Parts: sequence; C-alpha cells; structure tokens
Amino acid sequence: MTDTTQQPEVNIGLVGHVDHGKTTLVQALSGSWTDQHSEEMKRGISIRLGYADATFRECPGVDAPDCYTVEEECPDGSKSEVLRTVSFVDAPGHETLMATMLSGAALMDGAVLVVSATENVPQAQTEEHLMALDIIGIENIVIAQNKIDLVDRDRAVENYGQIQEFVEGTVAEDAPIVPISAQQEINMDLLIDAIEREIPTPERDASVDPRMFVARSFDINRPGTTWDGLTGGVVGGSLVEGELEVDDDLELRPGREVEEGGQSEWRPIETTVRSLQAGGTQLERAGPGGLLGVGTGLDPSLTKGDALAGQVAGAPGTLPPTRESFVMSVDLLDRVVGAEEGNVEDISTGEPLMLTVGTATTVGAVTSARDGECEVNLKRPVCAESGAKIAINRRVGARWRLIGIGTLQ
Ligand code: GDP
Ligand code: MG
Repeated sequence: MTDTTQQPEVNIGLVGHVDHGKTTLVQALSGSWTDQHSEEMKRGISIRLGYADATFRECPGVDAPDCYTVEEECPDGSKSEVLRTVSFVDAPGHETLMATMLSGAALMDGAVLVVSATENVPQAQTEEHLMALDIIGIENIVIAQNKIDLVDRDRAVENYGQIQEFVEGTVAEDAPIVPISAQQEINMDLLIDAIEREIPTPERDASVDPRMFVARSFDINRPGTTWDGLTGGVVGGSLVEGELEVDDDLELRPGREVEEGGQSEWRPIETTVRSLQAGGTQLERAGPGGLLGVGTGLDPSLTKGDALAGQVAGAPGTLPPTRESFVMSVDLLDRVVGAEEGNVEDISTGEPLMLTVGTATTVGAVTSARDGECEVNLKRPVCAESGAKIAINRRVGARWRLIGIGTLQ
C-alpha cells in the first residue's frame, strides 16, 4: 500500500551536551510506530541512523498549546489530527564527535538545542554545537531546558537566566526556551508548539532531478542468510530535492575505489531503486523532505557498515563532479570553539584538515594556503557542487576542532 501522508517533511537536529537528554527527548516524541511492512528495514534505519520520525498531532476543539500531542487519542477520547511528520537527527549512542554532528547538520532544517537544568551553562558541547549551528547557518532553533523534574524552582529560574545570557548575540538569541522533562514527558505540548512555529517545513522543489545526501548505509540481512534470500543494500539519508520512484535508476558518487594495474580510481556506482521507506511505511514514490531509506539492487557487502555514508545519490549523469582536490575560500573563526584558549591561526601549507562537505567527512592536506583561500588534496574524494559549504576542522591537542567555514570554488 502506498501512503505518502506520513512521509516526514522536515529534518530537525538534536544537539547539545552528552547526557543532557537528546535521545530521551526523541523517544518521548517519536512514540511507537505500528509498522506492518518491514520491521527489519525500519529498525535498521532508525537505530543506525540515530534517526526517528515523530508525527505531531492536534486535538480538535482544544486551545493551543494544550491541543498538541504525539498520541493518536486525545484525553477526551476523540481522535487527534495529523499536523506533520518530522524526522529527528540524533547523534547515535555516545557519539560526541563534531564530525558526526557536522555531517548531520548538512541535513538539518532546524535544531532543538537540549540543555540540562542540572548543570551550569554552557557545558563544552553545548557551546560547540551552538557555534556549529551558527556558522553553518541553521537559524531555526528551539531550546529545550530539560530535566526540570530534577531541580527546584529557584534553580530552574537561575538556569533559565544562564541560558538566556549564553545565547545572547548568537544565532539562537531569539529562540524560545521551553522548560521540559523529556523523561517525565512534561511540557511536550509546549515544545511541539514551539517547534511548529520556529521550524517550518522549507519549500523544496520536487520537479528537479533527485539529489539525496547519504548519511548511513547498511546490510539488513540477518547473518547466515543464503544467497537466494539476500536483500540488496540499503542507503539512508535525505532527498533534498526532486523525487525518487521505485525502479528509478540511481547513481552514487564518488562511488567506489577500483584498483586496476596498480592504479586506483573512484568510479560512480549504478543501481536501481528497489524499495522506498519513510515514516514507517513503504512508498512507491518519495518526495523531498525528512529521512528516507532506499533499498537498492547493490550487493549488501558494498553498503555494509556505513560504507556509502557521505555519498550523493541521484539520477545517472546529473550529479556534481567527484573531486580529489579543490580550492575553497575560507572564513576563519576568531577563536577555537570548545577549547579553553587559543585564537585561530591562519591555515598553513602542509597541514592536515578534517573537512565536512554535505554528509561526507574527509581529511585533506593543504597544498597551498593563501589569504582567505586554500587548496586541499583529499584522502577520500567527495562529490560536491561549487558553492558547497565546508566545515573546516583542525587538530588541536587530541581533538579535531571547528575553526571555520569554507566555500567550494
Ligand atoms: P543524550 O546523551 O543527550 O542523548 O542523553 P540521554 O537521553 O541518553 O539521557 C541521559 C540520561 O539522563 C539518561 O539516564 C536519561 O534517562 C536521563 N534523562 C533524560 N531526560 C531526563 C529528564 O527530563 N529527567 C530526568 N530525571 N532524567 C532525564
Ligand atoms: Mg544520545
């Protein structure tokens, strides 16, 4: 059966310090799917992508914000009406790497910054993630002041003031701050109200060639499946524009590295769309928007373990070029984000940088650094259009730190 009404239409990132309650909040909002179609595929996507879909609903005849819910049944027993389905992008597990947050950021239309009321503001990643939203240009932000069940009123008010002070002069300056308890599901209606108002679904063009950013890829077969029972590899990510339909031809770039006569080169991968899955249902056709799982005809060994994460997928012959090196203009931050000390020094020739381009993360060596511009040679190529934004990270001590943003020439 085809049902497009529940296809998620917007991607909302969950950012903030570890243990502040991002995953708990996603669970509180995403509830449970009644999925009769493909349990395997759904689990694969939501768990491995750190993604979950949530359908926001409204109880008819009830005033805002009390009307907002994720439940199908209203307190008075009536049925709630669907507002929209959203995809949440959460960093999976204990993943605290900026690279993961940044590659997720390429897909985010807005973000919920989760800040625990039990700790002083800002904690290291609270600041780091907010700065990343700022320089990537994610402006639609809601702040969830979480764990209010654990603090008394005075502490909650004090913490609220700290958050206000902290976001002053940043991209989140005007973001609403909603006190919640994700665990006790307190004020979920207020939070949904704020998200509905602050993070609208962007206008997207469904009539152009499809362009998908691949965030994860996997093999959904159980160990020991024999060859005749094997299902093709799955790629998960977001269609940023255009539509995909079952049986469409699909190209992935940069593709895979092929060795021939001692030479190695990257060649695009071609396959077909075997199935589409979004919002917990199988679709015949998917439009641009939130998380999408695409079942392909690829050998699952090619898609296993995120091997295709960071690639771009679309109609054959329509994708941007694969680049093994490029020139980018560079805008450096004044200060290294998240580090105790240190102004950002100019980029120098020879230094390694970690670059996030779309959902791809790659290390590049600077071959030439000039004023406001540098050229890099990539360890692993990327598929990207000129004008693409690049998050630039430098190794500072034991970690990669965000130092600026680049624009592909
Ligand atoms: P994440 O690292 O930001 O994803 O944080 P988690 O969602 O994993 O939460 C970290 C811990 O805080 C878990 O033990 C949660 O049960 C707990 N937690 C999250 N939200 C709340 C809350 O609102 N109240 C209380 N009391 N505990 C919470
Ligand atoms: Mg988590």
